[in-house]
Formats: sequence, structure tokens, C-alpha cells
Amino acid sequence: MLIEELQVGNQYTNDEIRSTFRCSLQSGMNKSNTTNTLVLIINHIKSIYHDRWFDNKVHHIGKGQVGDQTMTRENKTLSESITNGVDLHLFEVFRTGVYIYRGQVHLYEKPYQKEQLDKNGNPRKVWVFPLEFDDNSRPIENSEIEELFQAKFNKAQKLGNQELEDKANNLPDILGYREVAAVRNQRNPYVVAYTLRRANGVCELCEQPAPFNRPNGKPYLEVHHVKHLDDGGNDMTENAVALCPNCHRMMHSLNRKSDIDILILSKKIKKI
Ligand SMILES: [Zn+2]
Ligand SMILES: [Zn+2]
Repeated sequence: MLIEELQVGNQYTNDEIRSTFRCSLQSGMNKSNTTNTLVLIINHIKSIYHDRWFDNKVHHIGKGQVGDQTMTRENKTLSESITNGVDLHLFEVFRTGVYIYRGQVHLYEKPYQKEQLDKNGNPRKVWVFPLEFDDNSRPIENSEIEELFQAKFNKAQKLGNQELEDKANNLPDILGYREVAAVRNQRNPYVVAYTLRRANGVCELCEQPAPFNRPNGKPYLEVHHVKHLDDGGNDMTENAVALCPNCHRMMHSLNRKSDIDILILSKKIKKI
């Protein structure tokens, strides 16, 4: 495969990237002299670094895991990329072995230094490279971000108290923001209005009054589709119930048949 044949947003293997760019993939920055490129890998699973995202820009941490980072080798190549003619290509890894091509990037501001913890937890200086995607970039899928969060959360739950506290306090105060691609079902506003009116301020599952009122004085209930719209559920009153926040969370977390049966028995919804 040629570099020009890479498609932004597509997934590639380690082998494909190495043979396309003719470089090794040893680290987050890999220089190929043959193709005059620098292949940047942001590995969200392994990385100890915390790149900050600002929509189509990323402040990318340089190379070097322990001690102060120096402006040598790949870091130097990257910092001179505006004048040295080296093309920068960026990949992201959310799952082991799956490299998503994000396209070409360029430095849009001068690299700067910042303090960040190294691999051993000691403070050190890193170089930060403000990179901007060329205009062919595409937003990432929301599911990638969600899955990554879940994987990190699962890992965090296994840490000891001290390590968890350290990690919780050692991230930058702001992790940044990114545009994500998401598909949303349109919801029928009449179904929502009808269902709330039918409930008349009482949760249709636990049959308790709404826990509080909205600022306009109306009882606070949430409309839930028993068979989720994402799973092909109908946006009709026979598939919608008004729930208190507690019951709503519970139905999403547990999705128990026994709860659905209660709603069918009380004729709020039709059998699904
Ligand atoms: Zn309830
Ligand atoms: Zn719901």
C-alpha cells in the first residue's frame, strides 16, 4: 500500500503501517528516512502521556518516558517539520493492535515545555507539540471514546487506595474536548408529552410521586422507551413510560424482565 492510499478513519495493522511508511513502530514517534515521514502514534491504552485535545488540534507530548525530555532525534525532527519537509502522519490506538489513521497533521505553534510526571511518577519536563489536523480529518466515533473510558475505569477499580488517589490527582486539570460522530434517534415530542400526561406526576414503575418539580412547577419524570429506539423499539406510547430518575437509571442498568412485566401488567405498555 502507498501512503496516498491510506484512508482517513480506516483501521490498519502494525505490519501495514510499517510496510507503507517503511519504518519501525517502536514508539509514539517513528521516523522513516525512506519515505521522509514521521509516523505519530497516540496509543490511548498504553500511553503514560496525557495529550490534550482541542477539537481538531492536539497538544502532543514528545518522546522520552523518564527524566526531562530533550529536543533531540524525533522531537527535533518534529519541531523542525515546517522547514525540513518531513510529513507528519497520525494514528490513534483505542484497542490493542488496531491503528486508526487520522491523516496528516502540522505544527501550528511553537513547541513548548511543561512539567509532567514520568513513567516512575517523578516530575520532569516534557516537550509539547501543538499539532493541527489538515482539513481532511474526521471526527472519531463516540463508541471509541466510551469504550476507552470503560476500559480505563475497569483498570482504575483494581488499583490500591493510594495509587488511585495519586492517579486521580495527577491528570491535567482539563483533558480537553473532541468532536465525536454520533447517531441520534429523533424522538416524537407528542409521545413524550402524552406519556407524561398519562403518568400524571407518578412514576409508572414504582408508583411513587415524582421526587421534585421542574422550575415550571411540573413534576419531574423522564420518558423511557422500554424497547430502546437503538434496538428497533417503536416511538409510540405503547412502548414509552414515564419514570422517576431512580427507576429510569435502574431500567437502563439492569433491564430486568420483571420490571418490564410490571409495566405490561399495569397496561402502561404493550407486550414486546
Ligand atoms: Zn420510580
Ligand atoms: Zn431511557
